[in-house]
Amino acid sequence: MTKPKVAIYDFTDCEGCEVEIVSLREKLLILESRLNIVDWRLGQDKKESGPFDITIIEGTPITQHEIDLLKKLRKKSKVLIGLGACATLGGIPAIMDKKERAKWYKKIYGEKYKPRGIDALPLSAYVQVDFLIHGCPVNGKEVVRIIEDLLAGKTPKYQGYSVCFECKQENNPCRLLNEKPCLGPITQGGCQAVCVSGGSACYGCFGLREEPEIKNLLKILNKITDPPGNEASKKEIERYFTMFLSRTEEYKKYVK
Ligand code: SF4
Ligand code: SF4
Ligand code: SF4
Repeated sequence: MTKPKVAIYDFTDCEGCEVEIVSLREKLLILESRLNIVDWRLGQDKKESGPFDITIIEGTPITQHEIDLLKKLRKKSKVLIGLGACATLGGIPAIMDKKERAKWYKKIYGEKYKPRGIDALPLSAYVQVDFLIHGCPVNGKEVVRIIEDLLAGKTPKYQGYSVCFECKQENNPCRLLNEKPCLGPITQGGCQAVCVSGGSACYGCFGLREEPEIKNLLKILNKITDPPGNEASKKEIERYFTMFLSRTEEYKKYVK
């Protein structure tokens, strides 16, 4: 049987999601025996120009060169997958919007500097993306599950629950009940609530779950951020959402 040709690319990011793939170790070798990885800058010297059956892209296309390359990759790929929050949501690079970015370029590099970075948007702002592997970084088990589904000819599915479901499985006390902010109820599950188990809030790096109850969560967040409902409280809530979710339609509609 012919093995599917796979390419793995990275745009602007920290490469942490690719490191998660490398960290799969034996599982990666098992997967590799069923795939033909023909282009992967970080993992091998072999490089083919396509077409590809599956192209996995990490990072946000922040320069015109990256945007053009993304469009070319879309044309020569049967299936295009976004790997990690930078690719699926704009991620950490999207914390700063276009205007702020231009301001800081000038401040740091001076008036004469000609920046290449335009704006940090998810891949889906430019091309059709067939599936998103969520997380900052991605969860290795999720990567394996999704690639195995594709190899079996199945369309991968998103987990049908929020981070709260996994958080309860981990027996964590609920932050919201203890009047501490958390975006777990509106966030797609799949990370095993790793941040909450480690003592932090969920900031939504797995993206919004289907039909997220943002309005209801905002009501709770408005009550528990101190003092409730004032400008500082609004800013605090916005800070939680801008970590990963600022490029979503829901953020623009309900939070901004
Ligand atoms: S999603 Fe997070 S870990 Fe992955 S490349 Fe972007 S910043 Fe790095
Ligand atoms: S701590 Fe956060 S993720 Fe956990 S149950 Fe509460 S709201 Fe959900
Ligand atoms: S708990 Fe939230 S922020 Fe942390 S990894 Fe999971 S989805 Fe991402």
